[in-house]
Amino acid sequence: MRTSEEYLESLRSMKLNVYMGGEIVKRDDPRIVPGINVMRITYDMAGGPENTELFTAVSQYTGEKINRFCNVCDSVDDLLNKQRMIRTGTRLAGFCIQRCMGMDTLNALSIVTKEIDDAHGTEYYQRFLEFIKKYQKKDQIAAAVQTDAKGDRSKRPHEQVDPDLHVRVVSQNKDGIVVRGAKEDITMASYCDELVVFPTRTLTAEEKQWAVTFAIPADWDNIYIINRASAPRERKFLKAPLNTYGSSDAMVVFDDTFIPWERVFMCGEHEFGGRMALTFATSHRHSYCGCKPAVEDVIMGLIALTAEYYGVEGKHHIREKLAHLAGIAELVYAAGIAAAVESTKSSSGTQVPGAIYCNVGRRLAGENTYDSWGMVADVAGGFPVTMPFEEDYFDPKMGPFINKYTVRNPKVSVENMHRLQRTLSDYLSSSWAGVWQVADVHGGGSPVMETIAILANYDFEERKEVVKRLAGIRD
Ligand SMILES: Cc1cc2nc3c(=O)[nH]c(=O)nc-3n(C[C@H](O)[C@H](O)[C@H](O)COP(=O)(O)OP(=O)(O)OC[C@H]3O[C@@H](n4cnc5c(N)ncnc54)[C@H](O)[C@@H]3O)c2cc1C
Repeated sequence: MRTSEEYLESLRSMKLNVYMGGEIVKRDDPRIVPGINVMRITYDMAGGPENTELFTAVSQYTGEKINRFCNVCDSVDDLLNKQRMIRTGTRLAGFCIQRCMGMDTLNALSIVTKEIDDAHGTEYYQRFLEFIKKYQKKDQIAAAVQTDAKGDRSKRPHEQVDPDLHVRVVSQNKDGIVVRGAKEDITMASYCDELVVFPTRTLTAEEKQWAVTFAIPADWDNIYIINRASAPRERKFLKAPLNTYGSSDAMVVFDDTFIPWERVFMCGEHEFGGRMALTFATSHRHSYCGCKPAVEDVIMGLIALTAEYYGVEGKHHIREKLAHLAGIAELVYAAGIAAAVESTKSSSGTQVPGAIYCNVGRRLAGENTYDSWGMVADVAGGFPVTMPFEEDYFDPKMGPFINKYTVRNPKVSVENMHRLQRTLSDYLSSSWAGVWQVADVHGGGSPVMETIAILANYDFEERKEVVKRLAGIRD
């Protein structure tokens, strides 16, 4: 397994192809470092001593100890531990732990490459096995590169004015394929090792050129990563762990990029486009059943601590809020546990979480995002978003005024009150918070996609039969 220092070193050795704010930047640009710091948590935890067992697993392919973020789940316990690890990691970062995206993608590839081979006699699964063994040994990070530019949302890939609006194969020869197009919103693209690219939707027989899946190093020729970095505001005086973390999302452009065959895992098998997209989504929504409860943990902590510091602890509306939020957190978590318990084995041996539970859990979390943050805003009052800048608290003339009028619960020190209100400000009113609140709605697919997945998998006819029997209706 790698250490976080070795990870950082390997990022520094990569070719420059990350663009940000009108210039080409290094991967350890200070704006990207907060995202790298979240990745470091995943290495540091696996390296021990505190959470080693949770953050490591034994590879089913090599029998070696690996970072659990590189694991392909092959048992119910694997799925349960994945969910627990994500909740733990997300609590440590204070928001999205990010690295599950690559893990969920590789779990999907382990399932669908075998299914394509079974149907077409291809050799994708063997290629996948070669790839995953090296990936696990090197303890790498993959970005999930799924969301296409997509163009007009009401049109299919082959109906768009520009065929490149979904990533596609433009040519192929005996050595590999050439791909063109762009993927959007790709988290970690600027600080991952591998980009794992796969379709965003179902595809028809006219859409073989868009049925493409591959993994490629993020600094490969003819790949451009146009990055946007987000982080809580930097601190000058009151340093805090949250303010060292952040994320980056990027538009990734494939400008006639050559991909060698050994890195291609689907090419033209259009009927598996939707299968690849949905298999990833199911696995990722299972991961959400781990991270969203952790976000609710942060929200509950903010509300409970604010109530204590403001002197309103135990008031009826605070207790109501906390009970409601505990319900959301644990119901979403319970959905993930149920998805693990109700999981099935794919033909390749990968453990597939139950789709219904993954989707209802993710849906419940997503639809409560803004309600939950609204409760934090309610309890926080207005001051955290209007409070003076940090420097003013330390200004010899203004500082004493601010400190005097910051006091609420007299048992709480002025510094701790300041720290909490600045953290509330980061979570409620920074541009970083805005990005991640939208991610909680759209990550893993917009809300309607969960509705579609539930409607496709749930047996409503069987529920009609329940009522017919009760009502004595005989057809
Ligand atoms: C912070 C963040 C990080 C992300 N990270 C990643 C990542 O790492 N990798 C990745 O691949 N993706 C990532 N995503 C992308 C995410 O998966 C998408 O945002 C999500 O799938 C929704 O797609 P979209 O943004 O194109 O929205 P759209 O699909 O444009 O949706 C906008 C609205 O249009 C509606 N709509 C769209 N099409 C139709 C239709 N045909 N009929 C009716 N209604 C329609 C939707 O329901 C929605 O209400 C990330 C997103 C965010 C915000």
